Amino acid sequence: MHLYLYGPPGSGKSTIGQILARRLDLPFIDLDAFIECTAKQRIPDIFACEGEGGFRMREAAALDQVAHGPSAIIALGGGALLSAKNRALAESTGDILCFQADAATLESRVSRHPGKRPLLAVPGSECAVPPSPGQAKPIGLLLAERASHYASFACRLPVSDLPPEVTADQAQAALGRFRISGMGTAYSVRVGVGVLDTVGARMSELGCGNRTVIVGDAHTLPLYGERVVASLRASGMTVSTVAIPAGEATKTIETVAALWSAFLNAGIERGHAVVALGGGVVGDLTGFAAATWLRGVRWIGLPTTLLAMVDSGLGGKTGADLPQGKNLIGAFHPPSLVLADTSTLPTLPAAELRCGLAEVIKHAVIDDPGLLDELPRFAFCAQSADGAPCQSLADADWLAPFVARAMAVKSRVIQQDPFEKGARAALNLGHTIGHGIEKATDFAVRHGEAVAIGTVLEARLAEALGLAQPGLAQQLAAHFARVGLPVTMPAGIDLTAVRAAMTLDKKKAGGEILFAMPASIGDVRTGVAVSNALLDRVLRA
Ligand code: NAD
Repeated sequence: MHLYLYGPPGSGKSTIGQILARRLDLPFIDLDAFIECTAKQRIPDIFACEGEGGFRMREAAALDQVAHGPSAIIALGGGALLSAKNRALAESTGDILCFQADAATLESRVSRHPGKRPLLAVPGSECAVPPSPGQAKPIGLLLAERASHYASFACRLPVSDLPPEVTADQAQAALGRFRISGMGTAYSVRVGVGVLDTVGARMSELGCGNRTVIVGDAHTLPLYGERVVASLRASGMTVSTVAIPAGEATKTIETVAALWSAFLNAGIERGHAVVALGGGVVGDLTGFAAATWLRGVRWIGLPTTLLAMVDSGLGGKTGADLPQGKNLIGAFHPPSLVLADTSTLPTLPAAELRCGLAEVIKHAVIDDPGLLDELPRFAFCAQSADGAPCQSLADADWLAPFVARAMAVKSRVIQQDPFEKGARAALNLGHTIGHGIEKATDFAVRHGEAVAIGTVLEARLAEALGLAQPGLAQQLAAHFARVGLPVTMPAGIDLTAVRAAMTLDKKKAGGEILFAMPASIGDVRTGVAVSNALLDRVLRA
């Protein structure tokens, strides 16, 4: 599948296309440059000799050629998809992202390259080959003529004068496409409605062999197992399924042993890959079982909770809990592919959606404060009963770009520091105290709920240390509370047990607990030590 970049002249298709090609590890094709190369003529000269009709014929032939070639990022000319035939070809061979910009922005960009675009009358330009009379138009007129055409593409991105790297971030969120490198072999991440049904074809592309095991839990397999099985069988695979009980209590080495047995019975060999269909518990366990089966087989992540999509499903940390503490056993073993299908989220119980939102808020605090502006969309879940499904997300066309934007934060952080030697520790924000709370309540407080409380308390520590301005903890508490997350220690919690669990947590150096702490929204510090007296004071407040 290609990625076509479309939109008016000067909207940045080539610049952004080259950045996306680098990030997604795909070749970049500028269709106009391809046409010039094939014709051995510059486009203004083709227009001069053959008129617009001649150019459009060459354009259609070029599109046909690249569309049937290997996957690429393809920047199209500003009128390439006016032809219904070209449009149908592009739609059937890839995703199309259409850039949108106002006339003033485009005019200033286009005037930097006068003469390049023969259909435009660029103020002050002296084209080497003047367009035929009546052909050249001011950009505003061209834009007005094509307004409804450009608006007819479902995936659109307004461009501005933001740096190209930022626009590329926005393009990736709009398209739901990432490629994560830095730990082992790079892997692709796709976010969107329906990506679950592509798992069979994509595993075939990855050469995952003819058999697999789908690991799901008591909720995810009945809900989505059939879709995944159908997609895999359609690709000729022999499929077994293993259902594990739902919930954190399942995240044990005994469950890992049960998965090893299932892999043995299914004949999983080195060249095969296993599939994790579920939330963070299923992903962590399946990834760890895969890391240790036959000294490592591949695994494919199909996250079905918001938390697993934006956090646990990315980054390759896999593992299981011990009775003494969370995630004490584990391995870095990244997935070979992640398909986050947001059409699975409407069945998620509201309490689990809130938990995912806790990690989204954490990501906002680390590197994308703008995500906080999207939280009012989730106000409904503050009022929902814990077990009520989030049906109102069923038709939310903003959901996939929102999830992708939150994923982008984690993707940036883990690429910078895949093995948690520095920057990645920022992702532990709220988790040091949070893990203590989960463990001390025997997981009655869910992971995301504990992270919300932990983040607020860790912000209090930061305020007390003078790292953060007074008021930050309160500000963060308001964001968590807006979506119905708890922000204070549960009544009656055994604080000694919280401290004991924190002491066993992995985020230590030389026996000292090291915290990730917010200095402000958008700035998280890592490796911060805290005295026992201050920690006690904040936990008891
Ligand atoms: P989870 O996997 O327990 O899922 C929560 C509940 O939702 C379960 O009952 C599950 O059956 C149900 N469920 C899942 N998808 C559903 C759907 N689409 N519809 C209906 N029900 C659905 O919990 P989680 O919050 O996804 O993950 C928490 C785990 O992730 C913790 O163990 C935590 O330690 C781990 N985690 C790991 C990392 C990492 O980097 N590996 C990061 C953060 C958290």
